[in-house]
Amino acid sequence: MKFKSETMKKVIMGIAATRPDEIGCDTCYEYLHRFADMLKNGEDPAKVLPLVQHHLEMCGSCGEEFEALLLALEALEADIS
Ligand SMILES: [Zn+2]
Repeated sequence: MKFKSETMKKVIMGIAATRPDEIGCDTCYEYLHRFADMLKNGEDPAKVLPLVQHHLEMCGSCGEEFEALLLALEALEADIS
């Protein structure tokens, strides 16, 4: 079976948009620190907070926010040690 990629994209986006367990940017932001902490502790936040992981992959602005947070945490650690 072959799909035009644009059609496939619409199908995927349609599924994503109707997922009942989708979280929004506000919720994602609430969990961002916990997510980053777990990552820093060598845990697997994607297993505990899969919806946050999903949102970070889907949402450009939250992804950037998350990267900035990670950098800030690293800077903080460098300061302490
Ligand atoms: Zn977002």
